[in-house]
Amino acid sequence: MPATLENPAQVRTSCAFLPYGRQSITQEDIDAVILVLRSDYLTQGPAIDQFEKALAKTIGAKHVVSCSNGTAALHLALLALEIGTGDAVVTTPNTFVASANCARYVGAEVRFCDIDPTTGLMDVEQLSRVLSRDEKHKIRAIIPVHFAGQPVELARIYDLARMHGAYVVDDASHALGATYADGRRQLSIGNNSHSDLTTFSFHPVKHVATGEGGAVSTADPMLAARLRQLRTHGITKSEFTFEEQAYSADGELNPWYYEMTELGLNYRLTDIQAALGVSQLSKLPESIQRRNELAKLYTELLNQTFDSKSVTPLTQHPGLTNAYHLFVVQIDFESFGKTRAHVMNTLKRSGIGTQVHYIPVHLQPYYREMYRTKPSDFPNAERYYSRALSLPMFPAMTDGDVAFVVEQLKTALAGK
Ligand SMILES: *Cc1c(COP(=O)(O)O)cnc(C)c1O
Repeated sequence: MPATLENPAQVRTSCAFLPYGRQSITQEDIDAVILVLRSDYLTQGPAIDQFEKALAKTIGAKHVVSCSNGTAALHLALLALEIGTGDAVVTTPNTFVASANCARYVGAEVRFCDIDPTTGLMDVEQLSRVLSRDEKHKIRAIIPVHFAGQPVELARIYDLARMHGAYVVDDASHALGATYADGRRQLSIGNNSHSDLTTFSFHPVKHVATGEGGAVSTADPMLAARLRQLRTHGITKSEFTFEEQAYSADGELNPWYYEMTELGLNYRLTDIQAALGVSQLSKLPESIQRRNELAKLYTELLNQTFDSKSVTPLTQHPGLTNAYHLFVVQIDFESFGKTRAHVMNTLKRSGIGTQVHYIPVHLQPYYREMYRTKPSDFPNAERYYSRALSLPMFPAMTDGDVAFVVEQLKTALAGK
């Protein structure tokens, strides 16, 4: 039955249950994958290059290196920058654990920088303090996160990092398709004007789904070459250490020859995933536009329904495009006399999935044990966390879905 305004139930999406995020897969996507399955290459074939080129074009990057997931992208980024034991890396506590874990993979220390609780983003003033306390200059990289899809103040972070002699690796897992202002120019996240490396994830809750998948972008051809080599065991098939082994007496390249010059990993994306990625990327602009329409409608309806102190969407900075991976609201649960668990469970029974992004990383048992971090160490992240709730946000949602979520949220906060 077609959607009609007289029948609001029909204006809701085909999903019986509204998760907080979900992929959109079209027949085109399915056809693209089938084509690869019938082709000669399931991995290490031409679809990889197609996907990397298409992504580079989308984000205005010089080089893109795809990999098996967003966590692998972060790991490769720190390996390529030769960060390791004795070094420190700064990230935000308001992120998925992978943004911090990548430092531990390479043996580096993790330091956290508190957030602006109104946006959930790394606070640049706090970053300046974290850097000024680093007298021994152990901090070699800063990993800010464009939380929920809103760009951090990347140019300011980049300036601070450069003054300290540190790299910037921006974790753009939430921000594919986001842009920020640099003077009068709008720059895409991932174009590396104000970062050394940018990482992406193509997990199905993110903007482009490849099942599992990730990528790193950079403007530096040397870093791109290192990323490629590290992604496939540290093996090279050019520029050899032992030329006499590589070439026969008449100067011809020995066809079997390769060299492993450093310890790398197998972090490759498959052609099956890459083909899905190319097809998904073609729909990115309309998907970002739809996410922005949904966010605007959420904001209007929430402002009409609640007083702005008790239910507040995250603050939006002007002059940028938010990619709206998530739609996060801050709720003063206490003022409603409800726990967050009660509200989430009530919404779930009404067919609405919500989630909390994120439990501050420094409160995870692993980090508490390692660094003796404790509650009250990063008060903004903790205050933010106590009030955070992510409402459903994905491009296939209808306006009716948004109205339904706001109405059910009102009921859940008011009911017994
Ligand atoms: C999803 C995500 C990652 C990790 O990506 P995977 O592809 O799941 O490994 C890293 N950082 C952030 C902020 C993320 O949201």
